[in-house]
Amino acid sequence: MIDLNTLTIKKAHEAMKNGDFSVTDLVKAYIAEIEKSNTKIHAYLEIYSDVLDQAKRAEEMFANGTATELTGIPIALKDNMLRQGFVSSSSSKIQENYVATYDSTVVRLLKEQGVVFLGRTNMDEFAMGSSTENSAYGPTLNPLDTERVPGGSSGGSVAAVAMNGALIALGSDTGGSIRQPASFCGLVGFKPTYGTVSRYGLTAMSSSLDQIGPIAKSVEDAEIIFDRIYKHDPMEATSYKDEDRIEQNTETKKIGVPRDWIEGEGLDEDIKKSFFDAVEEFKKNGYEIIDVDLPISKHSLAIYYIIQPAEVSSNMARFDGVRYGERKGGDNLQDLYGESRGQGLGDEVRRRILLGTFTLSHGHYDAYYAQAMKATELVKDEFKNIFTKCDAIITPTSPFAPFKFGEKTENPLSMYMSDLFTVPANIAGIPAISLPFGIDSKKMPIGIQLMGPNFSDRRLFKLGRILTKE
Ligand code: GLN
Repeated sequence: MIDLNTLTIKKAHEAMKNGDFSVTDLVKAYIAEIEKSNTKIHAYLEIYSDVLDQAKRAEEMFANGTATELTGIPIALKDNMLRQGFVSSSSSKIQENYVATYDSTVVRLLKEQGVVFLGRTNMDEFAMGSSTENSAYGPTLNPLDTERVPGGSSGGSVAAVAMNGALIALGSDTGGSIRQPASFCGLVGFKPTYGTVSRYGLTAMSSSLDQIGPIAKSVEDAEIIFDRIYKHDPMEATSYKDEDRIEQNTETKKIGVPRDWIEGEGLDEDIKKSFFDAVEEFKKNGYEIIDVDLPISKHSLAIYYIIQPAEVSSNMARFDGVRYGERKGGDNLQDLYGESRGQGLGDEVRRRILLGTFTLSHGHYDAYYAQAMKATELVKDEFKNIFTKCDAIITPTSPFAPFKFGEKTENPLSMYMSDLFTVPANIAGIPAISLPFGIDSKKMPIGIQLMGPNFSDRRLFKLGRILTKE
C-alpha cells in the first residue's frame, strides 16, 4: 500500500529508485483514488488515455539511468495548458473539442523529466472566476467539505491534489487563481515572478498578468516543480533571459504588515486571528515585524477590473467560430460570430468581454484603460519602494473562508472580492505564495500569503517553510 496522504516527490522518487514500488504502481494508486472520488468531486474533466504508456516510459528512464527526481511523478494539468494530441478546453463549450497541436512549454519541460500527466482539471471558464462555478461542465466540489467551493479558477487542480488524485498540479494565476484555491483546500500555491515561467501554450486570458505555477501539499514539492519550469523561453516575448534574472538573497530579517489592509472591512475574524498567529510565528523565529503603508496598491482590485477585461476582450476575439472555436449556425458572418460566441461562451466571460470592449472604446479609453496602466506603474513603484524597507509582506490569502455553492454567484462584485489580497501581486508582477496556516470555526483551512520583490521566489519558499514547519 502506498500512503498517498504523506507522499512527497522526494519520498516517491526514493521508493521508485529502490524498487519499493514502480511508476505503474504509483499511477494506478492515483487512478484508483480518482475512480473513487472524481464522479462526486469533479476535479478532472478527463483522465488521459495514455497514462499507463507514460508510466512505462518513465520506468524505462529508471531502467536506463536517465531518471530524474521528477520521473514518474503524477501531475494534474489545468485545462488551459496545451498538451499535444489532447483536448484543452479551458472548461469552455467553445473549445470543447479543441485538440492541442503542440505542447505548452511547461508540459514540454516536465515531459523531458518523465513526469506522468494524469489528466486535465476543471476550472472557471477561461480562468475567470473564484469558485469553478463558471465552468461550462459543472462545478468542482471542495474535497474537505463538499457543500463548499474549492476556490478558483484552478479549482479542479487543487481538488485533484486535495483528494489524493495527483501528487502535484499546475495552475495559472492572473489575479489569485493558484493561491486562493490552494488556500481553500489547505495546500501550498505559488505564483512566480511574472515572466519567469513561460506562458507559451497557456490559453491567454489577461496576458500581462497570467502566470503558471505549482500547487502542492508542501513548500518543498512546490519548489521542486518551480525549479524545473523556471526557464527562459525564446517562444515567449515576456520571458526573462537567464542573465536578467537577478535573484534576491534568501537571508531575511524583516516582514512587513500592511496594517490598513488588515484593519479594513470585510476580513473574516477567524482569518484575522490566523493572520496574527502567523505574524507571531515569524516573530518567534527572530523576524522583525514592521508596519508598511501601501495606499495605492490597496486599489489593485479596481485596476485589475479595468485591465483584465480589456485584455480579455482582445484575447477572446479569436474565438469567433472561424479562426478558433466551435462554429455554430449563421448564413452570414454577423450571425456566425453571434451564434458561435453566444452559444460557446458563458455569462462571466461575456460580462468581461463587454466590460473590456467598453473601457477600450473610443472616448473611454483614456479615462479607463490608459488611467489603469498609469496606476499599474504606481503600484509597481510602491512595492519596489516598500521592499527597500522589508524583505517580504504578509497578508491573508483570501478575506473569507471557502463559501457555499451559490453564495456569491448572484453578485459578481462579492465574488470579485475573493482576490482582494492576491491581485496586487499580479498587478506588480511580483511573486507570491499561499501557505496553509490554521483552520476556521467550520474546520476549513486558512491561507496566509507572502509577497516579495521580483526574483525573490526562492526567498518566499524559504520563508514559507516557517509557517508549514518543513
Ligand atoms: N478571480 C479572478 C478573476 O475572476 C482571478 C482569476 C485568475 O487568477 N485566473 O478574474
